[in-house]
Amino acid sequence: MAEPGQAEANTAPVGGDDGRVGVYLHLPWCERVCPYCDFAVLAARPLESAVEDRYVEHLLTELSARAPAFAARPLASIYFGGGTPALFRPASIVRLVEAVRRAFPSASPGSAAGVPDEAPEITLELNPSTVERERLPDFRAAGVNRLSIGVQSFDDRLLKRLGRAHRASVADATLDAAREAGFEDLSLDLIFAEPDQTPAALERDLDKVIAFGPEHVSTYELTFEPATPFGRAVADGRMTPPDEDLAAAMIEQVEGRLEAAGYARYEISSYARPGRRARHNARYWQRQAVLGLGMGAHSTEARCATRPHGARRANPRELADWEAAIARNPAAAGEEETLDPATARGEAVFLGLRQVEGLSAAAFAEEFTAPPRAFFDAEIDRLVGMGWLVEGAGGDLRLSRAGRLVADDVAAEFVGGEGD
Ligand code: SF4
Repeated sequence: MAEPGQAEANTAPVGGDDGRVGVYLHLPWCERVCPYCDFAVLAARPLESAVEDRYVEHLLTELSARAPAFAARPLASIYFGGGTPALFRPASIVRLVEAVRRAFPSASPGSAAGVPDEAPEITLELNPSTVERERLPDFRAAGVNRLSIGVQSFDDRLLKRLGRAHRASVADATLDAAREAGFEDLSLDLIFAEPDQTPAALERDLDKVIAFGPEHVSTYELTFEPATPFGRAVADGRMTPPDEDLAAAMIEQVEGRLEAAGYARYEISSYARPGRRARHNARYWQRQAVLGLGMGAHSTEARCATRPHGARRANPRELADWEAAIARNPAAAGEEETLDPATARGEAVFLGLRQVEGLSAAAFAEEFTAPPRAFFDAEIDRLVGMGWLVEGAGGDLRLSRAGRLVADDVAAEFVGGEGD
């Protein structure tokens, strides 16, 4: 059976710089912290205006200090992630959008950078709630042109088990309100493989997603990270994750239903209608420049003469630590790591395989002087032999259908697994 994407040209860049920058702003507060969440988040209870204003000021300070490192790059995207960014007042979102746009003007055709003009994608993460729903027209007026909505499920029993603050009726109303506010680019998050979830229950969720018809769907198998309440419940036997065969069957169920409904899977957990891939998210998978601002935010700096494989920076995950770092030196709030060749090669393979086009051997050789086989011969032989990896005639690599079900195991073979 043909694999999705098999006939597509393999154009996924390994580290080729597109000359642009994406800006990620982390707004960490949530109405409540979900028991499976491993992100850098804080409970709002509720979010006070003074706290919000102070955080925005710190973001603006960090933006001013760090933008010069990405100078002259046209803006590709802005992404408000969290947390629940829509808990911030629309006036705060307007201030931040305007400041980012001033720092990184869009390119004009034939500009010195030679980058064609393209309107930036501006995404805001939103959870279903009455407060956020009422703000939708103002977010649209602020320039937000894409929403990522944390629906997770349309099953009230499951939403309750997940510790979510909303119920299905609120999700329905939020989705309708998003369309009414003029949003034409909506992404829905869907969680599956929750303990006790049956394939029939997942089928009902997929029915609802498809009936609503968002432009993009992000699907996540529930994970049980050790530092979360769910992780601790699994560790001491109070909760049992679904067995691996059932979880794998659900991955195939999700893929089968969404693809039959006209969504193409273009990344391990991401599906889009034609032309609706998430441009900001793709910057991470393609190792493009991203300036990350706020507590716990990550940045990716593109390859350059002094750092031929680029660099990354992670801001402190605790609010007080990030604020103190901004007060000390806003240009260097987080730890910077210049990528060494071995780390960069592992990352290039891992991120390339997440994408349906897979890893281009020629692009890999352009960055690392030799194709993947020169560094990962034994790993590639083993994974091809197991039927998890498909190798093209030119040495291009991509996950097989079976390999996608064990993508983390495949990645582990390449990350930190070879000498220099
Ligand atoms: S709403 Fe999302 S970001 Fe907030 S606590 Fe829940 S899972 Fe984490």
